Amino acid sequence: MAWQKTVRRAVSANGVGIHGGKQVALRLRPAPPGTGVVFVRTDLGIAIPARAENARDLAYATTLRLRGAEARTVEHLMAAVGGVGITNLFVDLSAAEVPILDGSALPFVEMIRRAGFVDQGASLPEMQVRRVVRVGDKERWIELRPAPELFVDYLVSYDSPAVGRQRFVGAITPQRFASAIAPARTFGFLEEVASLRRRGLGLGGSLDNCIVVDRERILSGDLRFRDEFVRHKVLDLIGDLALLEYPLRAQVVAHRAGHSLHVAVVNELLASPEAWELLEPDRLAPLTVRPYVGDSEPEAVAAS
Ligand SMILES: [Zn+2]
Repeated sequence: MAWQKTVRRAVSANGVGIHGGKQVALRLRPAPPGTGVVFVRTDLGIAIPARAENARDLAYATTLRLRGAEARTVEHLMAAVGGVGITNLFVDLSAAEVPILDGSALPFVEMIRRAGFVDQGASLPEMQVRRVVRVGDKERWIELRPAPELFVDYLVSYDSPAVGRQRFVGAITPQRFASAIAPARTFGFLEEVASLRRRGLGLGGSLDNCIVVDRERILSGDLRFRDEFVRHKVLDLIGDLALLEYPLRAQVVAHRAGHSLHVAVVNELLASPEAWELLEPDRLAPLTVRPYVGDSEPEAVAAS
């Protein structure tokens, strides 16, 4: 049984956007049941719902755009939100890009834990995949298969010997997401930095917020996991799947994919209504709200 959740109180952070290089203030706020995740450009007064139809510019990050306003590089925050099971959230941004912080989703998971969870007493349908949905070509592809829970099989393969071929296989629960996926940092290749910067990308990137790879060498210190690269791709995938707005019940098999394929398979699924159904849980609110079973928020709270 799944219930919609939001944060108990507002929490804030400041940092730089990895692509635009600008300072931005971020605030996560509680939102009522049925809201979903909504980015609010406080500088423009425009709200942008985090859903697939608003996703654009998918080469190096996931950007949401609506009425000329953008929320850039949303995927690590979206991964934290989807990964730990937050349904409804306002995300205030003072500028166009979500701060990169340490390059992983861990700072966002910690913000959400600091804010605390509230079960909202409203049922949360889950999206059950009923037939195989596939996008891509022979080299790079992603496929959704029917499964009773979210299970990921992700393979990456890079020429750089420091990364090489890595594969992650496993079920994604909130606990596993927080410990095994959220800490994995974004990465980039030194040889691509100049061309990225000519295109106005990576301007806020540094050895403090990105694993920088130079062929066989890693310039940014010790890895957090031996296979941190593929774990970060799983993190990006979880963030992009959160654009579905419902928890997904599927086996996701990804082969050398990235944001554009992640979002393409989300759009392909939404465009194929016979390929999925929404499983409606019991609509009655619980008498008591279950506490979050992670590291924080030990107290139970009466439902209102
Ligand atoms: Zn990423």
